[in-house]
Amino acid sequence: MRVFRFFNKYTYSLTAVMITLIIAASMAFTLVSGLHHLLWYRMMKGHPSGPIWLWMSMVVLAVIMMLFWYRILLFSLKYRQLNRAMADRILVKLLPFPTVIHDELLRSTKWFLLNDDIQRYAFTWGIFHSKACISTGLWNVLDESSRKAVMYHEIAHVLAHDSFQQSILKVLSGALPLLGLGELYRKYMLRREIDADRIAIKACDDDDVPLITALLVASKPTLGHEVQVCLNGTLEARLQFLETRQLPPLWNRQIRYRLMATFIAILLTAGEGLLVLCH
Ligand SMILES: [Zn+2]
Repeated sequence: MRVFRFFNKYTYSLTAVMITLIIAASMAFTLVSGLHHLLWYRMMKGHPSGPIWLWMSMVVLAVIMMLFWYRILLFSLKYRQLNRAMADRILVKLLPFPTVIHDELLRSTKWFLLNDDIQRYAFTWGIFHSKACISTGLWNVLDESSRKAVMYHEIAHVLAHDSFQQSILKVLSGALPLLGLGELYRKYMLRREIDADRIAIKACDDDDVPLITALLVASKPTLGHEVQVCLNGTLEARLQFLETRQLPPLWNRQIRYRLMATFIAILLTAGEGLLVLCH
């Protein structure tokens, strides 16, 4: 049961990491077996240089591998930079939390208000040690029970290490857009919000009114200002969950097709390496 819960919580980030590692391993295997084969040709009398197609394949594969790691590194650095810029913007606006916080909420993270009366939002930030934050614009218009719902929603993100999972998925889906990881990322963003909503409702003794109130308040533009924090486009699916209490399925058809295409690409790459090795 514990193992099931673990995989359920980390399904998308684990799948993305596994796909990346399997592709990297199959490319490395094909490159090594190709080079091994060329070395074998070199030792054979009469074929000192090896066939041209093999040379070409090895050069193309080496370029693809370099691009693969270069893009992952580039997107990791970009994401880190973005995260730092965001932390700089947040830090100057932080205010101490105005009320006593329940031990259960305080155990896993630090809480702050963010000095922003115009926008209504709550979020967690920090890849390894997440902190939770609620804008004064949202805090000041919510009643006690809705505040509680928002806080339990945010603590659910902290406990699921969502900042860390999001950074993995964002970097890998940005760096390797052709492997179906973008679909995984979108599905993850939706599931994690709905899962956090589920925990918030449970904390409010199965009453969903406080959470619905908070969601509606956060999605309503304030006087003269459009909503800037658009709930990641998940509002509709979250409201649907509140109506049906059914979690969306882990996998949909689109993800299955994209992952199948990725799997075929992996098989072809590893198959080429195996063919050359056995030749
Ligand atoms: Zn959330």
